[in-house]
Amino acid sequence: MEEKKYVYLFKEGNGDMRDLLGGKGANLAEMTNIGIPVPMGFTVTTEACNKYYEDDEIICDEVVNQIYNKLEQLENETGKQFGGLENPLLVSVRSGARASMPGMMDTILNLGLNDDTVEVMAKKTSNPRFAYDSYRRFIQMFSDVVMGIDKKLFESIMDEKKNEKSVKLDTELNADDLKELVIKFKELYKKEINEDFPIEPKKQLIQSITAVFRSWNNPRAIVYRRLNDIPSSWGTAVNVQEMVFGNKGNTSGTGVGFTRNPATGENKIFAEYLMNAQGEDVVAGIRTPQPISKLKEDMPKIYEEFISIADTLEKHYKDMQDMEFTIEEGKLYFLQTRNGKRTAQAALKVAVDLVEEGMISKEEAVLKVDPKQLDTLLHPNFDNKEIEKSIPIASGLPASPGAACGKIYFTAETAKQAHEGRGEKVVLVRLETSPEDIEGMVAAEGILTVRGGMTSHAAVVARGMGTCCVAGCGEIRVNEEEKTLIANNVIYKEGDYISLDGSTGNVYEGEIKTVEPAISGYFETLMSWADSIRALKIRTNADTPKDTAQGIRFGAEGIGLCRTEHMFFAADRIMAVREMIVAKNEEERKKALNKILPIQRQDFIEIYEELKEKPATIRFLDPPLHEFLPSDEADIKELAEDLDITVADLKSTIQSLHEFNPMMGHRGCRLAVSYPEIAEMQARAVIEAAIDVKRRKGYDIVPEIMIPLVGEVKELKCIKDVVDKVAKEIIEKSDVKLQYLVGTMIEVPRAALTADRIAEEAEFFSFGTNDLTQMTFGFSRDDAGNFLKHYYDKRVYEFDPFQKLDQDGVGKLVEMAAKLGRESRSNLKVGICGEHGGDPSSVEFFHGVGLNYVSCSPFRVPVARLAAAQAQVKNPRK
Ligand code: PEP
Ligand code: MG
Repeated sequence: MEEKKYVYLFKEGNGDMRDLLGGKGANLAEMTNIGIPVPMGFTVTTEACNKYYEDDEIICDEVVNQIYNKLEQLENETGKQFGGLENPLLVSVRSGARASMPGMMDTILNLGLNDDTVEVMAKKTSNPRFAYDSYRRFIQMFSDVVMGIDKKLFESIMDEKKNEKSVKLDTELNADDLKELVIKFKELYKKEINEDFPIEPKKQLIQSITAVFRSWNNPRAIVYRRLNDIPSSWGTAVNVQEMVFGNKGNTSGTGVGFTRNPATGENKIFAEYLMNAQGEDVVAGIRTPQPISKLKEDMPKIYEEFISIADTLEKHYKDMQDMEFTIEEGKLYFLQTRNGKRTAQAALKVAVDLVEEGMISKEEAVLKVDPKQLDTLLHPNFDNKEIEKSIPIASGLPASPGAACGKIYFTAETAKQAHEGRGEKVVLVRLETSPEDIEGMVAAEGILTVRGGMTSHAAVVARGMGTCCVAGCGEIRVNEEEKTLIANNVIYKEGDYISLDGSTGNVYEGEIKTVEPAISGYFETLMSWADSIRALKIRTNADTPKDTAQGIRFGAEGIGLCRTEHMFFAADRIMAVREMIVAKNEEERKKALNKILPIQRQDFIEIYEELKEKPATIRFLDPPLHEFLPSDEADIKELAEDLDITVADLKSTIQSLHEFNPMMGHRGCRLAVSYPEIAEMQARAVIEAAIDVKRRKGYDIVPEIMIPLVGEVKELKCIKDVVDKVAKEIIEKSDVKLQYLVGTMIEVPRAALTADRIAEEAEFFSFGTNDLTQMTFGFSRDDAGNFLKHYYDKRVYEFDPFQKLDQDGVGKLVEMAAKLGRESRSNLKVGICGEHGGDPSSVEFFHGVGLNYVSCSPFRVPVARLAAAQAQVKNPRK
């Protein structure tokens, strides 16, 4: 049997092999093939990573041998030897998953150095300072990444040395200083690990590749995957690449760049670099880099070459590129390129511009914007009037737009606790962020860092998440230990409020009012393309005229779910609702319902007026009745007085309504089975409102009455009969013609299993995937959050099934029920109105199984419109 190939030289791969080589590996292969100056190397595949996990976290001999084999080829082609004393080959080892996960996994540079090769490097380059600087960096990285020794221990040895020499910068240490550091670093290694630092480069290499595989499952990578819908089964590839050095002196340097501005989308190259430095110095934000325009003055030829390659790459990939480059003694190399992460504003502008520049089609443009990112466009900015009155206390780089205010916290952990535990709005303040801070960054409204440029970790990650961020704010002083921020000579402590403007970089004291965002022309253009492409209709979940208007402004084509009970909680009607619940008999209940009727009818009138002729699905009362009852003593007393009954009497009624498991109790259609007069009142309100609006405005309204929580066709029939009786009576007496539909939610597994029977009565279906998920998993939708985290840790489940549809289980029910339903009623309209209606991957699934529409909350309507268009481009419906 032919051996499986686990390792590919860059030149053996190509850009289409993303799944196997990871994004970075596929791009390196592609760049190599199109003649970009890329240092040579090879990629260990994602399949090797999966095999590593299958083999109990050991890289098997077969893979090791293939690695050695490619290493030999690399030696031959570069004319260098790994661990050799003539011309030593040094390599970098980097992770590279199918989807880019910036900074989430590990990297090791300068691998191949040991006490012997470092001497050769020093002599060969006549630059001992460079050789020892590279060596001490390698020891530090290997110890931290591969062996888990805290890097702070190394930093403090370095700081001691700088103090001793009375210097501030690393670059001010000379070769002898660095040599001493190497000795001290190795002593530290031995003390921590009880072994000498490994001098055999092949051992270093296999240990490092192992560490990268292992980092696929580090906690921050797991969190990142969950946030970005990346399954753990993908695994990561590992790229081993010949090192080129940006820290070889003043004709060497390193940088990162975007072919367009990643914050605004402006079509202008945006790059930063540092001379005499390695990549980590730029990304970590320890030194502040120079803009690329400076390179034009210092090394004009290299600048021209850089611009020309950047242009080639953008044209080749037909997208804005994010590139890493190194200049080694006057020669330019590209270390990687990828489609750049960008703000939502930039994503829209770039997508629209690329179409206008003739580079891509509208369909391709629609695929270039992440639907989830649109959220950020729809979120608040500062109120202009307020901001004009406010004087900034400091100013940094406008790293990620939007406005944020909150209480300041100085560690990711405290920020997370404050947000999750106490529901506070928080601003995370750090000297600089690192990937360990991811959970604090997720919890934060805004992020403020003292150090780092526009391409620092904080800036890149915040932009990706759409979180407001001000980076590189050198004017403030932050003491993370003492938890203080000093700006303008004022001390701010943990818990004090500040406000950040991520679009200007300004920092303000206190809380500043925010306003809804204005949507740009690029948004409208791209969304109009999305609308012309998509097959799914998009409705909104809305219970009030205000929400309805908001949903329509965002492009909804109707209401997919109006939860009528939400109208019952208002102060002016809750009393009547309570009267209805505690009523002792039908007569009393009807009396209370008669009080609710006009209010409910008025709600529907206003909603119909807002919708004009757009459809509305109105769901009848769903939650358990006792949810409406008062629980504290004062409220109980007040209600008893109003009802003219004793407190004891009322309490005993409340007690009799108690249920052990209300979510599976007397709710949904079960209420109307017991008390048909509730359905009668609601049917009357819906039909009379429609007739009223039709008569006054001439709108052609076809009310869609939806019965919740049906599990058996006879339940539906029983309520439908009540609705039909009331509706027919009203319509006959009126002078208008009105059609209406009675349908059901599919949210109990039994309904899905018997959907063909149910469709004999139901004129439409709408999947209530919140309850359907709850009842299919048997997980309480209110409590599952408490224990699901253990499931994520153990990778039993990787996603919250209440946010992202469980396609294997719940999805199967949806697909089956839609099919069964249409077998009985071929023109059955089928939609979904659970939370999943606004989740892009779920929308793609609903498109795939042929639903007619999805319905989601107003702010997620644009997300669903775009996701639906993407689904159609990827998997066209005839
Ligand atoms: C559902 O269950 O998915 C649904 C939309 O209804 P609710 O969330 O109101 O139970
Ligand atoms: Mg429900």
